[in-house]
Amino acid sequence: MPITILDHPLAADLLTILRNKETAPPQFRQIAERLGYLLVAEALSDMAVDEVEIETPLEPATGTQLHRPVVAVAVLRAGLGLLHSVLTLVPDVAIGFAGVQRDEETAEPMEYYNKFPELGSARVLILEPMLATGGSLSWAVDKVKENGARDIVAVCVVAAPEGVAAMEESHPEVRIVAAALDRELNPNFYIAPGLGDMGDRLFGTL
Ligand code: URA
Repeated sequence: MPITILDHPLAADLLTILRNKETAPPQFRQIAERLGYLLVAEALSDMAVDEVEIETPLEPATGTQLHRPVVAVAVLRAGLGLLHSVLTLVPDVAIGFAGVQRDEETAEPMEYYNKFPELGSARVLILEPMLATGGSLSWAVDKVKENGARDIVAVCVVAAPEGVAAMEESHPEVRIVAAALDRELNPNFYIAPGLGDMGDRLFGTL
């Protein structure tokens, strides 16, 4: 499944603020949330809808509503930066958490916590802002599939070509939505030019 890169001047403007190392955590969190609205809207853009009959103040009308429930799975920690965007756009979303830590030497994912709602009937959005090696995202997709998910979209802020290739190898049917596809991973497995460590920048850690 090809990657969708947001093609929108507002998304590019917001991403530029996130990339800027002078952007401090309070503004970084706000901007990540605003960019999240655009990413989540795109990640839901192909959802099936059902027709519903309603009454406007003037007359009967036919509208639509989402056919399936939405679940968001935040990959800890950085995925929390996009969680509020989903909660605002889809208030009845159910939320799961996938705790995975990157081994700083090998960049391999190390699992420490998982909690998922019912996934089988839902569009499952995996919130994984930095798609670097693809290890954490592949691991999270494995976990949600083990728990019944069948309709999965990954929501990323920045993706690296290496991570996209890894996902094409491990989970080719999973659509990836991102605000940018960057140049490469650096020797420390950070995305370049990237925006640094998303969790640190959101939460003010070092
Ligand atoms: N995780 C991050 O937060 N940033 C990167 O560049 C890569 C992984």
